[in-house]
Amino acid sequence: MTCRVVIVGGGIAGLSAAEALSRSGIFRRGELQVVVAESRRETGGRAGSFVESSSGQTVDYCQHVAMGCCTTLLDLLERMNLLHHFQCYDELTFYHPEHGFSRFRPSRWLPPPLHLSSALSSLKHLTKKNQREIRAALWRLMRTSESNLIDVTALVWLRSNGQSEETLERFWDVILVSALGDRPKRVSMAAARKVMIDGFAGARHASDVWVPRRPLSEIFGNEFRISLAQRGIVFELGHAVRQLNWNAESNYWSIERSGAEPVVAEHVIVATPWRVSRRWFPEFWGDQPTEGRSDRTGPATAFASSPITGVHLWLDRSLTSMPHVVMVGTLAQWFFQDPIKTTEDASPTEGVYHQIVISGRHAGSDWPKDKLVSEVVRELSEAFPEAGTPKVLKSRVVTDPHAVFSVSPETQVRRPASKTSCPSLHLAGDAIATGWPATMEGAAISGQLAAKSVLDSSIAKVAEELSIPRELERGWLARRMIR
Ligand SMILES: Cc1cc2nc3c(=O)[nH]c(=O)nc-3n(C[C@H](O)[C@H](O)[C@H](O)COP(=O)(O)OP(=O)(O)OC[C@H]3O[C@@H](n4cnc5c(N)ncnc54)[C@H](O)[C@@H]3O)c2cc1C
Repeated sequence: MTCRVVIVGGGIAGLSAAEALSRSGIFRRGELQVVVAESRRETGGRAGSFVESSSGQTVDYCQHVAMGCCTTLLDLLERMNLLHHFQCYDELTFYHPEHGFSRFRPSRWLPPPLHLSSALSSLKHLTKKNQREIRAALWRLMRTSESNLIDVTALVWLRSNGQSEETLERFWDVILVSALGDRPKRVSMAAARKVMIDGFAGARHASDVWVPRRPLSEIFGNEFRISLAQRGIVFELGHAVRQLNWNAESNYWSIERSGAEPVVAEHVIVATPWRVSRRWFPEFWGDQPTEGRSDRTGPATAFASSPITGVHLWLDRSLTSMPHVVMVGTLAQWFFQDPIKTTEDASPTEGVYHQIVISGRHAGSDWPKDKLVSEVVRELSEAFPEAGTPKVLKSRVVTDPHAVFSVSPETQVRRPASKTSCPSLHLAGDAIATGWPATMEGAAISGQLAAKSVLDSSIAKVAEELSIPRELERGWLARRMIR
């Protein structure tokens, strides 16, 4: 007898869940049908692109990057034969208006975490005092387990561990806002530890940067979906799920959709953004007291969004040969030059494509678009004076006010697991309790966990082996030093 699983939401979490289920024995034996019900006409969710109307170029809403520590995402892309669409860089360039450019390149010879030491010393915008403070804080972080940091914000912990305002501004703010999408005063120190230990200190290639070189819509909207469809996953696009009703007598879900017939299924994976999932199942999101859960961290309104802005610029010239730069002490936070080669084949009159990313609530959040663009272009002209003053041929500013959820201490303890108290309902999405902030990696892990939760239920009859997310293996010294 065939059993059906409906995955609601076709973002990276939903795609990851579908991929994991497609590898299961029960699916390959034809005893499981998997349907992805997505409200948009395209899969990929927040990892998507738009078509620039005047040129027809496909441009990502916002540049996405992954790190070497994002092993579940990278493995998933590898299994789907899509990893070649990403370029790996083993160094980062930092820029500060007063100190110019410096290269952050972890040592290839020293064992992690010592491999970071020379890279930190090479950052010209950090004084010796800044570096001493950072090293001391990193040491304390390595010796403090994540569970002891959940209740405290990064700002409180960092201040109480000797970080001066200058070190906070020049280092912690830059790294944490980029990785967590919000300021140290809001994010939990446990999330900050995840970034610093898993993303930098723990393993040699953890801080590698993976940048897509094709539009995200091509990777997650087309190729990923087409490969899964060829394996037999069914995609029903363009109809929003309105309601999920459990029929206790017949033991199935009826999934009501806009403009389409309801679908029935024995199991549902809800892989929508947290705001939608929470509306349907508030009890799993800490909105009602859940048995066994401590309520010491404040009210149920803990989940909040944090915005990310992409400033898309088509300039009359190329500014630099550097593919990307982390900008410190400026409104612009990340600079990318034509990462997906949108303008490679374009005519010179269409200009060279650049993107600036600004995460979190920042100084220019409420500025009109023109003011934001001219400030960012002024900063770029100062950073790359040898290119001369660029002329803006075209610009677009795209702000997603709900880009990521803010990983506050209150949020961290309320993130639900994939497995719920209802055996036929499973949760996925970047806000699920994976330990990761709102990232493609968190979404990819959540999908694999939700699929595992389905297969662990009675559905599989025989135990199914699904590879569980792996972490980057820590070196011998890191294993001794990191708690
Ligand atoms: C501007 C921006 C920049 C980012 N930068 C990075 C980055 O550099 N690196 C990184 O790792 N991450 C980044 N992220 C985060 C990353 O994009 C997300 O964490 C990840 O894509 C989330 O995937 P998801 O599947 O959990 O959710 P989503 O991508 O939101 O997918 C959920 C899906 O559910 C669908 N849906 C919603 N409601 C319904 C309904 N009622 N019925 C059916 N379907 C529904 C949606 O249409 C969507 O397709 C960024 C995000 C944004 C917005």
